[in-house]
Amino acid sequence: MTTPFGQSTVLGYPRIGPDRELKRAVEAYWAGGIDAAELHDRAARLRAAVWRTLRDAGLASVPSNTFSFYDHVLDTAVAVDAVPDRFRRLGLSELDTYFAMARGTAAEPALELTKWFATNYHYLVPEIGPDTAFTARPDKPLREYTEAAALGITTRPVLVGPATFLLLAKPAPDAPEGFRPVDRLDDLVDAYADILGALADAGVPWVQLDEPAYVADRDAAEIDALRAAYDRIGALHHRPRLFVASYFGELGDALPALLATPVEAVGLDLVAGPGNLARLAAAGPIPGRTVVAGLVDGHNVWRTDLRAAAATGAALTSLADHVSVATSCSLLHVPVDLAAEPDLDPDLRARLAFARQKVDEVVALGRALRDGVGTLPAPVPPAPAAWRDDTVRARLADLGDEHTRRAPYAERAAAQRARLGLPPLPTTTIGSFPQTDELRRARAAHRAGRLDDAGYADRMRAEIAHVVAVQERLGLDVLVHGEPERNDMVQYFGEQLGGFAATVNGWVQSYGSRCVRPPVIHGDVTRPAPMTVDWSRYAQSLTGRPVKGMLTGPVTILAWSFIRTDQPLADTADQVALALRDEIRDLEAAGIRIVQVDEPALRELLPLRAADQPAYLNWAVTAFRLATSGVADATQIHTHLCYSEFGEVLPAIDALDADVTSIEASRSKMEILDDLRAAGYGRGVGPGVYDIHSPRVPDQAEITEALCRAVAAVPADRLWVNPDCGLKTRGYAEIEPALRHLVAAAAQIRATL
Ligand code: GLN
Ligand code: ZN
Repeated sequence: MTTPFGQSTVLGYPRIGPDRELKRAVEAYWAGGIDAAELHDRAARLRAAVWRTLRDAGLASVPSNTFSFYDHVLDTAVAVDAVPDRFRRLGLSELDTYFAMARGTAAEPALELTKWFATNYHYLVPEIGPDTAFTARPDKPLREYTEAAALGITTRPVLVGPATFLLLAKPAPDAPEGFRPVDRLDDLVDAYADILGALADAGVPWVQLDEPAYVADRDAAEIDALRAAYDRIGALHHRPRLFVASYFGELGDALPALLATPVEAVGLDLVAGPGNLARLAAAGPIPGRTVVAGLVDGHNVWRTDLRAAAATGAALTSLADHVSVATSCSLLHVPVDLAAEPDLDPDLRARLAFARQKVDEVVALGRALRDGVGTLPAPVPPAPAAWRDDTVRARLADLGDEHTRRAPYAERAAAQRARLGLPPLPTTTIGSFPQTDELRRARAAHRAGRLDDAGYADRMRAEIAHVVAVQERLGLDVLVHGEPERNDMVQYFGEQLGGFAATVNGWVQSYGSRCVRPPVIHGDVTRPAPMTVDWSRYAQSLTGRPVKGMLTGPVTILAWSFIRTDQPLADTADQVALALRDEIRDLEAAGIRIVQVDEPALRELLPLRAADQPAYLNWAVTAFRLATSGVADATQIHTHLCYSEFGEVLPAIDALDADVTSIEASRSKMEILDDLRAAGYGRGVGPGVYDIHSPRVPDQAEITEALCRAVAAVPADRLWVNPDCGLKTRGYAEIEPALRHLVAAAAQIRATL
């Protein structure tokens, strides 16, 4: 008799620990403070705590191998031995080779880091070539399974599925033109077969293979590849039972394809992909299969409407032999435990569920499917009326097209030229200057009440004065105040806007040991007071050169917050935009001549299916324009975007109608300039001339070379010179010479014009 899939499960659980123990452990190891044995010890304790928590909560099926020292995609690469030779050659221990791939070494750059679907989690992109030799290295999933078994807990090892793994990979640097990693699926499946065999040997009853890549548009060949892979894996006679999980949307044509294979269980996200239900119904009866129903949102912090979710679960029971309740995706994307937030507004608290609370919801829903909804806990209380702001709503209702439109660019450009009087190829930076330990200490002391408001403001003003002086000394043309007062470009605004709540412990892993604390947007957005004006005004008072006001755009604020689900995202975006519009007017009135509104997350929120993208881009652009179009023609609006692969958002970048767009370009060798032009963009542009993500200091010659390429692509009177992102993660020892070379390179090119 084989083990049925349990009644309730989660697709994954936060690995950082309730007190960010993982961050502390790996960072201590990197700094040489603890050895590998101690690191492994601490990791084992974290894993054990998670398994016990999940078991004790009453979860019927507990996942394992969801722990990671850095990233689960990297773990999967290691599990199939897809370690590029350049890292093997370093001759490091297994653990240090792993960290070298994640973080790079002095000699070798790390694997590329990129966004995990539409989340703010970043994974390491595997590099796959025609000769990558896939070999099963099941040590980690086996070790975790055995560890949990020793605690009396039978777990379900989780791996990224082979098709998604290759679809997320990129061709190795030496791969021939036209090579696609997914062409290696057959070979990779051999390695997976060996891993599954090893797991079966250890007695593993079920394994979870994640195939979220199939909730995005996939062509027929890619769907065939999925079917072929699971036909082969399914046909193995020695293997655990297979649970193929999908999340972040609808499987579409991949669902019938998957159901045509022998996999025993399929996971569907019914939160982000409600259409999965109809698609499953259309697929006809699926005898003998389990549907793992993602009914509890793993990507947001709201309590579940359990009665509605139970109704969806009940609808599923008529379609599948066995229905199991789960989170919609891994709980990696939400904070660990609401219990760590004792000071939250009780009205808000009553509506929230973090990872630990979501486990209880899953268990309750599983029970309700069996015993009826009478067993469900009390419903979520309604949102308090005070979270609504009728003034904001009335202002938004009154807005017309004229509130998203500025004068034609040529008129604005002339007015700005006259007012700013900048040289050709003006030099600037993206906003932040190094966040020194001293600054972090001052912020912490202020938060803890050890430094009073006045003392804190003095400290920040001193820093701003320093940053302005450094920039004047270096000869930059357009200055910034350096953002010393900002812990994070979204959290800072979240702490000041109405309708937002900050948590004290709501950490979520962003990448590796880096965690963020996204604010929660729960009500209508208001701006009780100016947020940045004092700092910017102070900076401007120190210099005759223009100082850029510095704001985060509406899309990025939404992307890096937990968002409301009780109104369309577009409406929340407009509310944020209105607050920014007021802020920008105040900056203008304070004598700020240039305002930069950063939208690094414009690409991140792009829906995974092409059919959903135009509507998104439309509201995203509208919100940006609403925020930025309230200024005089002579006030210059900048925007900044990072992450080079823009693709389908390029026309939207043009539609933002910013006077100047600074954009990451150094890694793509300025190709972005041609792409922008092809998309119709004809305003100011500041392609990043060097990569700030690396500690390497560029010399003047390489910046000059980048600029030569840029002047060939863009008329010189529209070209700006800047690094490709903010400098907050760097030190002065790196940025001073780098910026000196940047200014010198700009002068060199200017002289040739
Ligand atoms: N102004 C921000 C900074 O310089 C922009 C950061 C970003 O693009 N991610 O830090
Ligand atoms: Zn950036």
